[in-house]
Amino acid sequence: GQHRIIMDDTAIRRALTRIAHEIVEKNKGIDNCVIVGIRTRGIYLAQRIAERIHEIEGLPIEVNELDITLYRDDRKARSAAVTDSAASNTTQHLPIHVEDKRVILFDDVLYTGRTIRAAMDALMDIGRPQSIQLAVLVDRGHRELPIRPDYVGKNVPTSKQEQIVVSLAEVDEEDKVTIFH
Ligand code: 5GP
Ligand code: MG
Repeated sequence: GQHRIIMDDTAIRRALTRIAHEIVEKNKGIDNCVIVGIRTRGIYLAQRIAERIHEIEGLPIEVNELDITLYRDDRKARSAAVTDSAASNTTQHLPIHVEDKRVILFDDVLYTGRTIRAAMDALMDIGRPQSIQLAVLVDRGHRELPIRPDYVGKNVPTSKQEQIVVSLAEVDEEDKVTIFH
């Protein structure tokens, strides 16, 4: 169908650099902060943000992965949250250390908010974070829960029929965000 590029590689790079600065500013540094990327593309965004923050602050920031596929309230199966170490490509699942941490969740697209609600459930089954913040590359609206992002790459008003496609160089050919009508 009809489609239009709404963010090119430059726009994505600038948005991530801005969000990295916003995270450092809001948290007055990165003490106790851990970034948690959600599923496929949130993980690459989380890794990129961690690299930017390392450049800005001169300190590494921990990155973890969260797969909440089986945790959604609109799915039948519900399983314990499992995570992969961002550093390894093994299938070994490691726990995220969230106790007393400022957890910054990162996902590619925010829509109804149900995925983030499930992610928060999963995190709070693991431990008691000091706080949870949310960063997304694209907020396309249509929230069904009282969830709002702390950091947004781009607000994109959409109809429910439209679809946002996030392409990232790590898994796709290039960096771009496209809207399909
Ligand atoms: P929600 O749970 O907020 O309804 O949807 C957000 C989750 O579904 C995110 O993990 C996101 O990857 C995916 N998602 C929802 N809508 C879109 C969309 O238009 N494009 C893409 N790429 N992912 C979406
Ligand atoms: Mg997703």
